[in-house]
Amino acid sequence: MRIARLFAVPLLLALAGCTLNLPRVEGPDRNAIPTAWPWESLIYAARTADGHVFVVDLGWHGAADALEHGLARIGARPEEVTDVFLTHSHRDHVQGWTAVRQARFHMAQAEVPLFLGQVRHADLPSRVSAAAVGDPGPWSGEVAVRPFSRDTVFAFGADTVRAFLVPGHTAGSTAYLYRGVLLAGDAISRPYHTGYGPGMGIFTADRAAGRASLASLFERLRPYDVQWVCTAHGKCARPDERFIRKVLR
Ligand SMILES: [Zn+2]
Repeated sequence: MRIARLFAVPLLLALAGCTLNLPRVEGPDRNAIPTAWPWESLIYAARTADGHVFVVDLGWHGAADALEHGLARIGARPEEVTDVFLTHSHRDHVQGWTAVRQARFHMAQAEVPLFLGQVRHADLPSRVSAAAVGDPGPWSGEVAVRPFSRDTVFAFGADTVRAFLVPGHTAGSTAYLYRGVLLAGDAISRPYHTGYGPGMGIFTADRAAGRASLASLFERLRPYDVQWVCTAHGKCARPDERFIRKVLR
C-alpha cells in the first residue's frame, strides 16, 4: 500500500498541477477550457473575426459540459462549432467529439487511423486503457475528417489558424498557431518535477522524432509572432530563449 502511494503521488503531481497563465491567452472571443481535473486536458475555443467558431482539441472526462459552459463565455454553442483542430488523438484530448459531431475534424493524415481506432496508439498507457475500456470513438464515417499532410494555413476571414506538423508524441501530432498563441498539444509537456520539456516519455510513441520535430518547429516559427506557447494540459509560457533551451534540452 505504501509503495503504491509512493508511486501514485509523484505520478499525479507529474500529470497534474495547476494551469499556468491561461487567462493570458483568453479574451472576449477566445477561451481556454480545462477538463478532467487534475489532468487539465485543454479545449481551446475561439470565435474568429468572420464569426466562425472553432476548437482545438476536445478534452476528457466532462468535456461535453465543459464545452457548453466554455463556449457560452464567447457567446457560442457546441452546435455552432464548424471546425475542430486536433493536436493528436490520445483519449484525453478527443472526448468531446460527440458534442460537435457536425464540425469538420482537421488533423494530420498520419493521425487519422489512430483517431478512428483503426491503428492502436503505441504508448503503453494508451494500449492498457484501450484494452481495459475500449476506444473512445469516433469510428469511420461518424465525423467528417479533413486530413492534411504538410504545414497548412486555414483562413477564416482576416484570421488564420496555422498547423505545424510535429510528429513524435503521436505519428500525427500537430501544433496550431492562432493570434500569437501556439497550442502545442502534448509535443511539449510540463511535468511538475522537471518543468517544460518535450512530450512525456511514457505517453510518447517516438521520443527521438518528437525532439527533432520540436527543433524544427522553433525554426519554422521564426517568421511568426508567437506570444505564448501552451501545452495540451493547460500550461502556457513565453517562448523566450530560456524556454526553448529547456524544451530542447
Ligand atoms: Zn498525448
